[in-house]
Amino acid sequence: MNSNKKLVVITGASSGFGLEMAKEFAKDGYPLLLLARRVDKMEDLNLANTICRKVDVTNKAVFEAAVREAEGVYGKTDLIVNNAGVMLLGDLSTQDPLEWQRMLDVNLTGVMNGMQIVMNDMKERRFGTIINLSSIAGLKPFGNHAAYCATKYGVTGMTEVVRGELSSYNVRVLSICPGAVGTELLGNTTDQGIIDGYNDWKEAVGATNITPADVARTIKYAYEMPQSVSLREIIITDTMQDA
Ligand code: NDP
Repeated sequence: MNSNKKLVVITGASSGFGLEMAKEFAKDGYPLLLLARRVDKMEDLNLANTICRKVDVTNKAVFEAAVREAEGVYGKTDLIVNNAGVMLLGDLSTQDPLEWQRMLDVNLTGVMNGMQIVMNDMKERRFGTIINLSSIAGLKPFGNHAAYCATKYGVTGMTEVVRGELSSYNVRVLSICPGAVGTELLGNTTDQGIIDGYNDWKEAVGATNITPADVARTIKYAYEMPQSVSLREIIITDTMQDA
């Protein structure tokens, strides 16, 4: 193991951006803690210096236990990427409130859990980085995204608050706001008409070429800037995305 590299914790590492981040960081020898509910998908990557744990980010005790376990092996967390998230698009007038609750729990409480688990140690060490996955839907509205937008505007807002609060401790807090990128995310949505509409729009404008690996590389770039440089908010979309 390269002893210069410090522990990176990635939530939602079993697919999409998280899985690509795991591969990107592992290539450069970072020790990793990968968290998601489908532990087999992370173990199948077979990455060196990596601990994989079955964690639901809404369960703070289990989440924290996994982080402390990895810190016992690799040292304190230098980066956490609060990436785990779900998107259940729907028309607010008819959407099942259980779908709102699931997004609120994972996208907001999960991110707050992740921040609280590492931030006090980071403040004490006056070093460290927290990266939260917001979305372009955390900056502007999209049809059928009311509840999802509520959660992602929430991520954007709390990231900016905590960024200000931790700035005097030399701890970075960044938000990444991707546009539409092909992952498993849309598969959470239960309304087939909305899924078809979303895919039709992507095809029509030609916004189908950006990859999860592009997002993963961007996140790694932001992290690898010197600690004195904060890329506070990054919007990354396919060039052809019109909205
Ligand atoms: P995926 O659906 O491919 O990945 C989501 C990940 O989150 C999976 O690894 C899933 O793992 C994990 N996850 C979901 N719920 C939980 C939970 N309760 N506890 C732990 N892990 C959980 O989606 P993406 O890679 O696209 O999304 C990653 C992030 O990026 C999300 O926050 C999403 O909102 C955001 N984003 C995505 C965009 C896109 O177009 N793809 C655009 C803008 C933002 P498992 O099911 O195994 O637990």
